[in-house]
Amino acid sequence: MLVEIEATGVCHSDLHVIEEDGWGHPFPVLLGHEGAGIVEAVGESVTTLAPGDRVVIGWKTACGTCAACKRGEPRQCRRPPAAPGRLHRADGTDLTPVLRTGTFATRTVVHEQAVAIVPRELHVDQACLIGCAVATGVMSVLETARVWPGARVAVIGAGAVGLSVVQGARIAGAAEIRVLDLDERKVEQARRFGATDASTRPVDFVFDVVGRRATFELGLSLLSAGGTFVLIGLSPEGERAELGLPELFSKRTRILVSHGGDHVAREDFPKLAAWALDGTLDLAGMVSRVAPLADWEAAISAMQSGDVIRTVLVP
Ligand SMILES: [Zn+2]
Ligand SMILES: [Zn+2]
Repeated sequence: MLVEIEATGVCHSDLHVIEEDGWGHPFPVLLGHEGAGIVEAVGESVTTLAPGDRVVIGWKTACGTCAACKRGEPRQCRRPPAAPGRLHRADGTDLTPVLRTGTFATRTVVHEQAVAIVPRELHVDQACLIGCAVATGVMSVLETARVWPGARVAVIGAGAVGLSVVQGARIAGAAEIRVLDLDERKVEQARRFGATDASTRPVDFVFDVVGRRATFELGLSLLSAGGTFVLIGLSPEGERAELGLPELFSKRTRILVSHGGDHVAREDFPKLAAWALDGTLDLAGMVSRVAPLADWEAAISAMQSGDVIRTVLVP
């Protein structure tokens, strides 16, 4: 289906694509995977949406036919369906949309399953964040880790995904939400989203939104016996870490990997949108800046410097 993009967030994964030589995407690449907009046209076989629907585009959708989907675990699907290639540059070269979405554009073509309808009352600048940062952070807490009420939680890295983990932990009823970041401004900022005063006691859950050796090893050291480590952040190629097997065994540490919070767009996006509308989730506070799409390079620099939580680009 053809979607007219109204707003798109600038995410670290777009930077990862740049830094990791395309991250497996054939060049030329169309960046952007956190978009929202209006359905403009649909293919003949599309039955669940119609032109005029306001949608959030999702990069992680379930295929419905793989082994994971067939055993009723669409959240574990690793074969998200893509629309047949329809994007080209002016010279006719095929253009690869990042994560099958490609939202740094005025229009994009995505698979029917890759969008979820959200209410028009939710401001589109905020709605787009649901497509990656918010779904990843909140669902890592509620689905991947299943944090329980009263749990002690630590979050390493307080960008948009980290702040969404903080909000997810607040929704789950965590008693303590400790935020660690090299940038003190971000630690302070996280209080607005639910971060609490921290004790020095070990925690039940660590969410590593950074994905480096130092954060992995720090995270393991913060865990209590029986604690759960959740890896969310993308690591650079070749990154390695060390862990002591006797300590792992005696502490019964669980290590989980979250692919975007294991979200399912059609199930989770409407719920996250409803939470944004009733104030359970603060999305407005996460939009630091709205800028024209043409300023995407400056927006990526601002993200690297830590000056913004999210820049939202508007075509
Ligand atoms: Zn992203
Ligand atoms: Zn599947």
